[in-house]
Order: sequence, then structure tokens, then C-alpha cells
Amino acid sequence: MEKIVAGVQHFRTVEFNKHRTFYEQMASRQQNPIALFITCSDSRVMPHLITQTDPGDLFQIRNAGNIVPPYSAAGGGEGATIEYSLEVLGIKHIIVCGHSQCGAIKAILDGGNLEGLPAAKSWFSHAEATKRIVKQKYSDLSPDEMAIAATEENVLVQLNHLSTHPCVAARLSAGLVQTYGWYYDIGRGRVLEYDQSQMKFVDLGTSVRAASPMPIRSSERDAGFLLTAKEEL
Ligand SMILES: [Zn+2]
Repeated sequence: MEKIVAGVQHFRTVEFNKHRTFYEQMASRQQNPIALFITCSDSRVMPHLITQTDPGDLFQIRNAGNIVPPYSAAGGGEGATIEYSLEVLGIKHIIVCGHSQCGAIKAILDGGNLEGLPAAKSWFSHAEATKRIVKQKYSDLSPDEMAIAATEENVLVQLNHLSTHPCVAARLSAGLVQTYGWYYDIGRGRVLEYDQSQMKFVDLGTSVRAASPMPIRSSERDAGFLLTAKEEL
């Protein structure tokens, strides 16, 4: 804990004072974030760092496996946070970001590791579709390739869950909100984004966004979507 406490002291005495006006102005008005950023609890994933954004820019939901329970099952904080971000904060962009070397994805693929973890087992049932898609389509891949495929498919599964929330569905149909599927490669510092026109994840910034913000269901995608990630292995 010493590192964390020292960090708090450094923030208060050095960093805060450097940007005191910024923080005071931010505190004096309602937050106005650019996007809702849904990602994994993994300590190596730092949304503000990889997007180079400031305090106030990202409204966040974090949990094991960047999971979005479907509306019918969303009794926890996720549904409420999504609703608040759209209805109250007026957010127009929602990012679901998975990442490389994700322990949650490994656990989802290998349910045997969840013995003695009943809460995690129940939580990962929201990624059952991910598990089945991987089994159906990627059983011939190496473990590393399969982990990438599972992480990418899980992002799309969770984007589909997101669209079952009425506040999201209504805005998607009216073109008032856009959703994005990301894959963050920790060891390479790369962010890939799902490109609907190419039906695969591509380096963020190089994709041409499709008109519709809705993700394509996995069954409609071709087998080539993994090429970008696989080439980097
Ligand atoms: Zn993770």
C-alpha cells in the first residue's frame, strides 16, 4: 500500500496544484464525458492512458471480462449505469473494450478454473455465447489464437447485449448513439476496432466506419476476421 499512499500524497501536493484551475472548474459543473467506456477490471488496462484523455472524458464501467448483461438479466449496476449515462449525461458514444491476456476470457473458455468461485461462474454465464461461438468456429486454432478470437467475439457478444437495453436500442435506431468494439493489445500498445465493412478488427484509425453502428452477429461474419490479429502473433 505504500506506493498507493505515496501516490495520493504526490497527487495532492504536486499534480493537483499543477492543474488546480482545471480541477476547480471541473468540480463546479456537471460532468460531460465524451464516451461510456466499458472494459475489463484488469489492472493493466488504463482507459485514460491508452486514449490519452483527461479526467471527465470517460464514464466507465469495469468488470471481469468487460461483460454487459442483457437487459433482462441486468439487475446489477451495469444496466443502471448505462441508463444514467444516456438518459442523464447524454452520452453518444459507447466503447466496449476487451484486451489481450485476459484472465476472464481464459476462465470463460476453461470453466474448470471456476471451481470454488460461484459468483464468477454465475457472472461468466453472460459470456456463454462467446464460449459456444469459439467452440463452434475456432476449435482448430492454437491457444494464443483462440484467446484473441474469444476476446474479439466476446466484445461483439457484449455489444449485442448492450443493444438489448431499451435506452440503447431506441437511440441506436434513431442514430443518436454509436457503439464501438475494441481490442487492446497490452504488449504492443495497439488498439484494434471492429470494422463492420471489413467484418474484422483493424488498427484504430485505419477503419472506414459503416453507416450503421450495430455490430454484425457472429454468424454473419466471414472466417477472415482474425487475419489482422493473427498476423501479429
Ligand atoms: Zn480481462
